[in-house]
Amino acid sequence: MKQHKVLIIGGGASGLAAAIVSAQRGNQVTLLERGDRVGKKLLATGNGRCNLANLGAPCYFGDPDFARAVLAHMPVEKVLAFFEDLGLPTRPDGAGRVYPGCNQAAAVLDVLRAQLDALDVRVITGAEVKTLKPGWQAVTGQGNYTADSVVVCCGGLAAPKLGAANAYGLLTGLGCKLIPPAPALAPLETEKAPVKGLSGLRLPVVLTLCGQRPVAAAMGEALFADYGVSGVCAMQLARDAENLLRKGQQATLYMDFSPTLGLTEYRMERATPQTPGHNEQQVRDWLHDRQRLPGGDPLLGALPRLLREKLQKAPARDLPRLLCAYPLPLTGVRGFDQAQITQGGIDCRDFDPATLGHRTLPGLYACGEILNVDGDCGGYNLQFAFATGLLAGGDT
Ligand SMILES: Cc1cc2nc3c(=O)[nH]c(=O)nc-3n(C[C@H](O)[C@H](O)[C@H](O)COP(=O)(O)OP(=O)(O)OC[C@H]3O[C@@H](n4cnc5c(N)ncnc54)[C@H](O)[C@@H]3O)c2cc1C
Repeated sequence: MKQHKVLIIGGGASGLAAAIVSAQRGNQVTLLERGDRVGKKLLATGNGRCNLANLGAPCYFGDPDFARAVLAHMPVEKVLAFFEDLGLPTRPDGAGRVYPGCNQAAAVLDVLRAQLDALDVRVITGAEVKTLKPGWQAVTGQGNYTADSVVVCCGGLAAPKLGAANAYGLLTGLGCKLIPPAPALAPLETEKAPVKGLSGLRLPVVLTLCGQRPVAAAMGEALFADYGVSGVCAMQLARDAENLLRKGQQATLYMDFSPTLGLTEYRMERATPQTPGHNEQQVRDWLHDRQRLPGGDPLLGALPRLLREKLQKAPARDLPRLLCAYPLPLTGVRGFDQAQITQGGIDCRDFDPATLGHRTLPGLYACGEILNVDGDCGGYNLQFAFATGLLAGGDT
Protein backbone atom coordinates (compact mmCIF):
# COMPACT_ATOMS: atom_id res chain seq x y z
CA MET A 1 0.00 0.00 0.00
CA LYS A 2 1.26 3.49 -0.82
CA GLN A 3 2.44 5.27 2.32
CA HIS A 4 0.45 8.40 3.14
CA LYS A 5 2.66 11.47 2.68
CA VAL A 6 2.30 14.32 5.16
CA LEU A 7 3.87 17.78 5.04
CA ILE A 8 4.24 19.76 8.24
CA ILE A 9 4.94 23.46 7.64
CA GLY A 10 6.68 25.07 10.62
CA GLY A 11 8.89 23.42 13.23
CA GLY A 12 7.63 25.11 16.41
CA ALA A 13 5.69 23.54 19.28
CA SER A 14 2.62 22.56 17.25
CA GLY A 15 4.56 21.40 14.18
CA LEU A 16 6.92 19.18 16.18
CA ALA A 17 4.00 17.53 18.00
CA ALA A 18 2.05 17.05 14.76
CA ALA A 19 5.09 15.57 12.97
CA ILE A 20 5.77 13.04 15.74
CA VAL A 21 2.20 11.78 16.05
CA SER A 22 1.75 11.63 12.29
CA ALA A 23 4.97 9.61 11.91
CA GLN A 24 3.93 7.34 14.80
CA ARG A 25 0.86 6.49 12.71
CA GLY A 26 3.15 5.21 9.95
CA ASN A 27 2.95 8.21 7.66
CA GLN A 28 5.90 9.44 5.63
CA VAL A 29 6.44 12.86 7.20
CA THR A 30 8.43 15.84 5.92
CA LEU A 31 8.78 18.94 8.10
CA LEU A 32 9.61 22.24 6.36
CA GLU A 33 11.05 24.97 8.60
CA ARG A 34 12.05 28.42 7.36
CA GLY A 35 14.63 28.96 10.12
CA ASP A 36 18.02 27.30 10.42
CA ARG A 37 16.73 24.96 13.14
CA VAL A 38 13.48 23.80 14.65
CA GLY A 39 12.10 24.81 18.04
CA LYS A 40 14.00 28.07 18.43
CA LYS A 41 11.14 29.80 20.25
CA LEU A 42 10.58 26.84 22.56
CA LEU A 43 14.03 27.38 24.06
CA ALA A 44 13.07 30.92 25.11
CA THR A 45 9.72 30.01 26.68
CA GLY A 46 9.06 30.34 30.40
CA ASN A 47 12.37 32.20 30.85
CA GLY A 48 14.20 29.09 29.63
CA ARG A 49 12.07 26.75 31.76
CA CYS A 50 9.22 26.16 29.26
CA ASN A 51 5.86 26.49 30.97
CA LEU A 52 4.28 23.91 28.69
CA ALA A 53 0.74 23.58 30.07
CA ASN A 54 -1.63 24.69 32.80
CA LEU A 55 -3.80 22.46 34.99
CA GLY A 56 -6.36 25.22 35.61
CA ALA A 57 -9.55 26.06 33.75
CA PRO A 58 -8.97 27.09 30.12
CA CYS A 59 -8.22 30.80 29.82
CA TYR A 60 -8.39 31.70 26.12
CA PHE A 61 -9.43 34.66 23.99
CA GLY A 62 -10.13 35.21 20.30
CA ASP A 63 -12.25 32.10 19.79
CA PRO A 64 -12.44 30.68 23.35
CA ASP A 65 -15.22 28.21 22.40
CA PHE A 66 -12.96 26.67 19.76
CA ALA A 67 -10.10 26.46 22.29
CA ARG A 68 -12.35 24.78 24.86
CA ALA A 69 -13.55 22.29 22.22
CA VAL A 70 -9.95 21.48 21.26
CA LEU A 71 -9.03 20.89 24.91
CA ALA A 72 -12.09 18.69 25.39
CA HIS A 73 -10.69 16.42 22.68
CA MET A 74 -7.10 16.74 23.90
CA PRO A 75 -7.14 17.46 27.65
CA VAL A 76 -4.04 18.51 29.52
CA GLU A 77 -3.50 14.97 30.91
CA LYS A 78 -3.05 13.65 27.36
CA VAL A 79 -0.57 16.41 26.49
CA LEU A 80 1.45 15.58 29.60
CA ALA A 81 1.20 11.83 28.85
CA PHE A 82 2.67 12.55 25.40
CA PHE A 83 5.75 14.02 27.07
CA GLU A 84 5.93 11.23 29.68
CA ASP A 85 5.92 8.70 26.81
CA LEU A 86 8.81 10.57 25.20
CA GLY A 87 10.72 10.21 28.48
CA LEU A 88 10.15 13.72 29.82
CA PRO A 89 8.49 13.86 33.25
CA THR A 90 6.65 17.11 33.99
CA ARG A 91 5.58 18.75 37.22
CA PRO A 92 3.23 21.59 38.19
CA ASP A 93 4.17 24.50 40.42
CA GLY A 94 1.83 25.58 43.23
CA ALA A 95 -0.31 27.60 40.81
CA GLY A 96 -0.95 24.82 38.27
CA ARG A 97 1.67 25.90 35.74
CA VAL A 98 3.38 22.80 34.34
CA TYR A 99 7.11 22.67 33.59
CA PRO A 100 9.46 19.88 32.57
CA GLY A 101 10.65 18.09 35.73
CA CYS A 102 14.21 19.33 35.13
CA ASN A 103 12.99 22.93 34.58
CA GLN A 104 14.89 23.16 31.29
CA ALA A 105 13.24 24.20 28.02
CA ALA A 106 16.18 22.57 26.21
CA ALA A 107 15.10 19.19 27.58
CA VAL A 108 11.66 19.61 25.93
CA LEU A 109 13.23 20.34 22.57
CA ASP A 110 15.74 17.51 23.01
CA VAL A 111 13.06 14.82 23.47
CA LEU A 112 11.02 16.16 20.55
CA ARG A 113 14.02 16.21 18.23
CA ALA A 114 15.17 12.77 19.35
CA GLN A 115 11.72 11.42 18.50
CA LEU A 116 11.78 13.04 15.05
CA ASP A 117 15.07 11.23 14.42
CA ALA A 118 13.80 7.93 15.79
CA LEU A 119 10.74 8.10 13.52
CA ASP A 120 12.73 9.10 10.43
CA VAL A 121 10.89 12.38 9.97
CA ARG A 122 12.62 14.29 7.20
CA VAL A 123 13.41 17.76 8.57
CA ILE A 124 14.32 20.41 6.01
CA THR A 125 15.47 23.73 7.46
CA GLY A 126 15.90 26.99 5.54
CA ALA A 127 12.75 26.03 3.64
CA GLU A 128 10.22 28.86 3.77
CA VAL A 129 6.94 27.85 2.17
CA LYS A 130 5.80 30.73 -0.03
CA THR A 131 2.61 29.23 -1.48
CA LEU A 132 0.40 26.29 -0.73
CA LYS A 133 -1.55 24.74 -3.59
CA PRO A 134 -4.47 22.34 -3.21
CA GLY A 135 -3.49 18.83 -3.93
CA TRP A 136 -1.17 19.41 -1.80
CA GLN A 137 1.92 21.20 -2.99
CA ALA A 138 4.18 23.50 -0.93
CA VAL A 139 6.31 25.88 -2.94
CA THR A 140 9.64 26.92 -1.36
CA GLY A 141 12.74 28.65 -2.67
CA GLN A 142 14.43 25.24 -2.58
CA GLY A 143 11.83 23.45 -4.67
CA ASN A 144 8.33 22.07 -4.39
CA TYR A 145 7.07 19.37 -2.01
CA THR A 146 3.90 17.35 -2.55
CA ALA A 147 1.86 15.36 -0.05
CA ASP A 148 -1.56 13.86 0.61
CA SER A 149 -2.06 16.02 3.72
CA VAL A 150 -0.53 19.26 4.91
CA VAL A 151 -0.49 20.69 8.43
CA VAL A 152 0.14 24.46 8.63
CA CYS A 153 1.92 25.22 11.93
CA CYS A 154 3.59 28.56 11.14
CA GLY A 155 2.72 30.46 14.35
CA GLY A 156 1.81 34.15 14.57
CA LEU A 157 3.75 37.40 14.34
CA ALA A 158 5.05 37.67 17.91
CA ALA A 159 8.81 37.56 18.54
CA PRO A 160 10.23 37.73 14.99
CA LYS A 161 13.76 37.30 16.40
CA LEU A 162 12.69 33.81 17.44
CA GLY A 163 11.42 32.92 13.99
CA ALA A 164 7.95 34.45 13.67
CA ALA A 165 7.02 35.38 10.10
CA ASN A 166 3.84 36.29 8.32
CA ALA A 167 2.53 33.02 6.88
CA TYR A 168 -1.19 33.80 6.98
CA GLY A 169 -1.16 34.07 3.18
CA LEU A 170 -0.68 30.28 2.92
CA LEU A 171 -4.19 29.87 4.31
CA THR A 172 -5.91 33.06 3.12
CA GLY A 173 -4.75 32.05 -0.38
CA LEU A 174 -6.94 28.98 0.05
CA GLY A 175 -9.97 31.03 1.11
CA CYS A 176 -9.51 31.08 4.90
CA LYS A 177 -10.49 34.30 6.67
CA LEU A 178 -8.01 36.33 8.71
CA ILE A 179 -8.96 38.14 11.93
CA PRO A 180 -6.51 41.10 11.98
CA PRO A 181 -3.52 40.15 14.13
CA ALA A 182 -2.21 42.40 16.94
CA PRO A 183 0.32 41.96 19.75
CA ALA A 184 -0.89 40.38 22.99
CA LEU A 185 1.06 39.56 26.15
CA ALA A 186 3.26 42.58 25.52
CA PRO A 187 4.66 45.35 27.74
CA LEU A 188 2.60 48.53 28.09
CA GLU A 189 3.70 52.03 27.14
CA THR A 190 2.68 54.85 29.47
CA GLU A 191 3.21 58.58 29.77
CA LYS A 192 6.82 59.22 30.72
CA ALA A 193 6.41 61.37 33.86
CA PRO A 194 4.89 58.74 36.21
CA VAL A 195 7.61 56.15 35.40
CA LYS A 196 10.54 58.56 35.20
CA GLY A 197 13.35 57.49 37.52
CA LEU A 198 11.76 54.09 38.27
CA SER A 199 13.27 52.07 35.42
CA GLY A 200 14.50 48.65 36.55
CA LEU A 201 12.36 48.56 39.69
CA ARG A 202 10.42 45.31 40.30
CA LEU A 203 7.47 45.28 42.67
CA PRO A 204 4.50 43.06 43.53
CA VAL A 205 1.38 45.07 42.64
CA VAL A 206 -2.23 44.84 41.52
CA LEU A 207 -2.83 46.49 38.15
CA THR A 208 -6.26 47.64 37.05
CA LEU A 209 -6.86 48.72 33.48
CA CYS A 210 -9.59 51.33 33.08
CA GLY A 211 -11.29 52.80 30.07
CA GLN A 212 -14.53 54.50 31.01
CA ARG A 213 -14.75 51.86 33.75
CA PRO A 214 -12.47 49.09 35.11
CA VAL A 215 -11.92 46.57 32.31
CA ALA A 216 -9.38 44.03 33.54
CA ALA A 217 -6.94 43.48 36.40
CA ALA A 218 -3.97 41.31 37.21
CA MET A 219 -1.76 40.76 40.22
CA GLY A 220 1.94 39.95 40.02
CA GLU A 221 5.37 41.46 39.71
CA ALA A 222 5.54 44.65 37.65
CA LEU A 223 8.80 45.78 36.13
CA PHE A 224 9.22 49.51 35.44
CA ALA A 225 10.90 50.52 32.19
CA ASP A 226 11.65 53.95 30.74
CA TYR A 227 8.76 53.44 28.26
CA GLY A 228 6.22 52.09 30.79
CA VAL A 229 5.57 48.81 32.57
CA SER A 230 6.47 45.21 31.84
CA GLY A 231 6.23 41.94 33.79
CA VAL A 232 3.63 39.19 33.51
CA CYS A 233 0.79 41.12 35.16
CA ALA A 234 1.24 44.10 32.83
CA MET A 235 1.56 41.88 29.77
CA GLN A 236 -1.67 40.08 30.63
CA LEU A 237 -3.52 43.37 30.22
CA ALA A 238 -2.06 44.11 26.79
CA ARG A 239 -4.88 42.60 24.72
CA ASP A 240 -7.50 44.70 26.58
CA ALA A 241 -5.29 47.81 26.44
CA GLU A 242 -4.77 47.31 22.71
CA ASN A 243 -8.53 47.02 22.18
CA LEU A 244 -9.30 50.19 24.17
CA LEU A 245 -6.62 52.20 22.38
CA ARG A 246 -7.69 50.87 18.98
CA LYS A 247 -11.20 52.20 19.64
CA GLY A 248 -9.67 55.61 20.45
CA GLN A 249 -10.67 55.37 24.10
CA GLN A 250 -8.58 56.78 26.91
CA ALA A 251 -6.90 53.98 28.85
CA THR A 252 -5.29 54.29 32.27
CA LEU A 253 -3.44 51.68 34.27
CA TYR A 254 -3.82 52.05 38.04
CA MET A 255 -1.10 50.51 40.15
CA ASP A 256 -1.99 49.41 43.65
CA PHE A 257 1.07 48.89 45.86
CA SER A 258 -0.84 46.98 48.59
CA PRO A 259 1.04 43.70 47.96
CA THR A 260 4.37 45.57 48.36
CA LEU A 261 3.11 47.15 51.58
CA GLY A 262 2.10 43.71 52.87
CA LEU A 263 -1.61 44.64 52.87
CA THR A 264 -2.65 42.10 50.23
CA GLU A 265 -1.38 38.56 49.92
CA TYR A 266 0.86 38.41 46.86
CA ARG A 267 -0.10 35.98 44.10
CA MET A 268 0.50 35.82 40.36
CA GLU A 269 -2.94 35.72 38.84
CA ARG A 270 -5.74 37.52 37.07
CA ALA A 271 -7.68 39.65 39.56
CA THR A 272 -11.28 40.83 39.52
CA PRO A 273 -11.30 44.43 38.27
CA GLN A 274 -12.42 46.78 41.04
CA THR A 275 -12.74 50.55 41.14
CA PRO A 276 -9.24 51.97 41.64
CA GLY A 277 -8.86 53.30 45.17
CA HIS A 278 -11.54 51.00 46.62
CA ASN A 279 -9.08 50.12 49.41
CA GLU A 280 -7.98 53.68 50.17
CA GLN A 281 -9.26 53.59 53.75
CA GLN A 282 -7.19 50.49 54.50
CA VAL A 283 -4.09 52.25 53.15
CA ARG A 284 -4.91 55.39 55.20
CA ASP A 285 -5.15 53.28 58.37
CA TRP A 286 -1.85 51.59 57.52
CA LEU A 287 -0.17 54.98 56.98
CA HIS A 288 -1.65 56.30 60.19
CA ASP A 289 -0.22 53.35 62.16
CA ARG A 290 3.19 53.74 60.57
CA GLN A 291 3.31 57.47 61.28
CA ARG A 292 3.64 56.55 64.93
CA LEU A 293 6.83 54.59 64.24
CA PRO A 294 10.10 56.28 65.25
CA GLY A 295 11.93 57.91 62.34
CA GLY A 296 9.08 60.02 60.99
CA ASP A 297 8.93 58.54 57.49
CA PRO A 298 6.05 56.04 57.26
CA LEU A 299 7.25 54.73 53.86
CA LEU A 300 10.80 54.03 55.00
CA GLY A 301 11.45 50.32 54.87
CA ALA A 302 8.10 49.66 53.19
CA LEU A 303 8.95 50.85 49.69
CA PRO A 304 12.14 50.83 47.59
CA ARG A 305 14.00 54.13 47.71
CA LEU A 306 13.29 55.17 44.09
CA LEU A 307 9.54 54.87 44.51
CA ARG A 308 9.54 56.37 47.98
CA GLU A 309 11.38 59.45 46.76
CA LYS A 310 9.01 59.84 43.82
CA LEU A 311 5.86 59.55 45.94
CA GLN A 312 7.21 61.96 48.54
CA LYS A 313 7.34 64.70 45.90
CA ALA A 314 3.51 64.68 45.82
CA PRO A 315 1.48 66.57 48.45
CA ALA A 316 1.14 64.43 51.63
CA ARG A 317 -2.66 64.44 51.38
CA ASP A 318 -2.44 62.58 48.04
CA LEU A 319 -0.25 59.79 49.41
CA PRO A 320 -2.96 57.26 50.43
CA ARG A 321 -4.57 57.53 47.02
CA LEU A 322 -1.25 57.24 45.17
CA LEU A 323 -0.34 54.12 47.15
CA CYS A 324 -3.48 52.28 46.08
CA ALA A 325 -4.24 53.85 42.69
CA TYR A 326 -1.07 55.25 41.15
CA PRO A 327 -2.24 56.42 37.70
CA LEU A 328 -0.28 55.52 34.58
CA PRO A 329 -2.02 56.91 31.47
CA LEU A 330 -1.44 54.41 28.65
CA THR A 331 -0.06 55.54 25.33
CA GLY A 332 0.38 52.18 23.59
CA VAL A 333 1.26 48.52 23.62
CA ARG A 334 4.76 47.45 22.60
CA GLY A 335 4.90 45.83 19.17
CA PHE A 336 5.34 42.25 17.98
CA ASP A 337 9.10 42.54 18.70
CA GLN A 338 8.36 42.41 22.43
CA ALA A 339 5.08 40.49 22.42
CA GLN A 340 4.94 36.84 23.45
CA ILE A 341 1.81 36.01 21.52
CA THR A 342 -0.45 37.21 18.69
CA GLN A 343 -4.14 37.92 19.11
CA GLY A 344 -6.20 37.42 15.97
CA GLY A 345 -5.18 35.02 13.19
CA ILE A 346 -6.90 32.52 10.94
CA ASP A 347 -10.62 32.21 11.64
CA CYS A 348 -11.09 28.91 13.50
CA ARG A 349 -14.63 28.41 12.23
CA ASP A 350 -13.28 26.89 9.01
CA PHE A 351 -11.63 24.10 11.07
CA ASP A 352 -12.94 21.15 13.07
CA PRO A 353 -11.76 21.36 16.71
CA ALA A 354 -11.65 17.55 16.98
CA THR A 355 -9.09 17.13 14.19
CA LEU A 356 -7.95 20.65 13.19
CA GLY A 357 -8.89 19.62 9.67
CA HIS A 358 -10.43 22.16 7.29
CA ARG A 359 -14.17 21.64 7.01
CA THR A 360 -14.27 21.68 3.20
CA LEU A 361 -10.67 21.17 2.01
CA PRO A 362 -9.76 17.54 2.82
CA GLY A 363 -6.13 17.03 3.81
CA LEU A 364 -5.60 20.61 5.05
CA TYR A 365 -4.95 21.20 8.77
CA ALA A 366 -3.94 24.29 10.82
CA CYS A 367 -2.51 24.29 14.34
CA GLY A 368 -1.18 26.55 17.06
CA GLU A 369 -0.80 30.29 17.17
CA ILE A 370 -1.63 30.86 13.50
CA LEU A 371 -5.26 30.33 14.55
CA ASN A 372 -7.44 33.00 16.16
CA VAL A 373 -6.82 31.76 19.71
CA ASP A 374 -4.56 33.36 22.30
CA GLY A 375 -4.19 32.29 25.88
CA ASP A 376 -3.22 33.95 29.12
CA CYS A 377 0.27 33.68 30.54
CA GLY A 378 0.85 30.46 32.44
CA GLY A 379 1.33 27.72 29.84
CA TYR A 380 -1.98 28.08 27.99
CA ASN A 381 -0.41 29.00 24.65
CA LEU A 382 2.03 26.12 24.46
CA GLN A 383 -0.69 23.78 25.69
CA PHE A 384 -2.94 24.90 22.84
CA ALA A 385 -0.07 24.53 20.35
CA PHE A 386 0.77 21.01 21.55
CA ALA A 387 -2.89 19.94 21.83
CA THR A 388 -3.73 21.09 18.30
CA GLY A 389 -0.55 19.50 16.92
CA LEU A 390 -1.34 16.18 18.59
CA LEU A 391 -4.93 16.17 17.29
CA ALA A 392 -3.97 17.10 13.73
CA GLY A 393 -1.05 14.66 13.61
CA GLY A 394 -3.35 11.92 14.86
CA ASP A 395 -5.85 12.57 12.09
CA THR A 396 -3.41 12.63 9.17
C1 LIG B 1 9.74 34.86 24.81
C2 LIG B 1 8.52 33.98 24.76
C3 LIG B 1 8.22 33.18 25.88
C4 LIG B 1 7.06 32.38 25.85
N1 LIG B 1 6.82 31.59 26.93
C5 LIG B 1 5.73 30.79 26.94
C6 LIG B 1 5.50 29.90 28.00
O1 LIG B 1 6.31 29.75 28.93
N2 LIG B 1 4.33 29.18 27.98
C7 LIG B 1 3.44 29.26 26.94
O2 LIG B 1 2.41 28.58 26.97
N3 LIG B 1 3.68 30.05 25.87
C8 LIG B 1 4.80 30.79 25.84
N4 LIG B 1 5.05 31.59 24.74
C9 LIG B 1 4.14 31.50 23.57
C10 LIG B 1 4.45 30.21 22.79
O3 LIG B 1 5.84 30.08 22.61
C11 LIG B 1 3.75 30.17 21.43
O4 LIG B 1 2.38 30.39 21.60
C12 LIG B 1 3.97 28.82 20.74
O5 LIG B 1 5.34 28.61 20.49
C13 LIG B 1 3.20 28.75 19.41
O6 LIG B 1 3.54 27.54 18.79
P1 LIG B 1 3.35 27.39 17.21
O7 LIG B 1 3.83 26.05 16.86
O8 LIG B 1 1.98 27.76 16.84
O9 LIG B 1 4.29 28.51 16.58
P2 LIG B 1 5.84 28.76 16.72
O10 LIG B 1 6.38 28.10 17.95
O11 LIG B 1 6.02 30.22 16.57
O12 LIG B 1 6.48 28.00 15.48
C14 LIG B 1 6.21 28.39 14.16
C15 LIG B 1 7.34 27.89 13.30
O13 LIG B 1 6.97 28.02 11.93
C16 LIG B 1 8.07 28.51 11.20
N5 LIG B 1 7.54 29.16 9.98
C17 LIG B 1 6.83 30.31 9.91
N6 LIG B 1 6.47 30.55 8.65
C18 LIG B 1 6.95 29.55 7.89
C19 LIG B 1 6.90 29.24 6.50
N7 LIG B 1 6.26 30.02 5.63
N8 LIG B 1 7.52 28.11 6.06
C20 LIG B 1 8.18 27.29 6.93
N9 LIG B 1 8.26 27.54 8.26
C21 LIG B 1 7.64 28.64 8.74
C22 LIG B 1 8.76 29.45 12.16
O14 LIG B 1 10.10 29.67 11.82
C23 LIG B 1 8.61 28.68 13.48
O15 LIG B 1 9.68 27.80 13.71
C24 LIG B 1 6.20 32.39 24.74
C25 LIG B 1 6.52 33.17 23.62
C26 LIG B 1 7.67 33.96 23.63
C27 LIG B 1 8.00 34.79 22.43
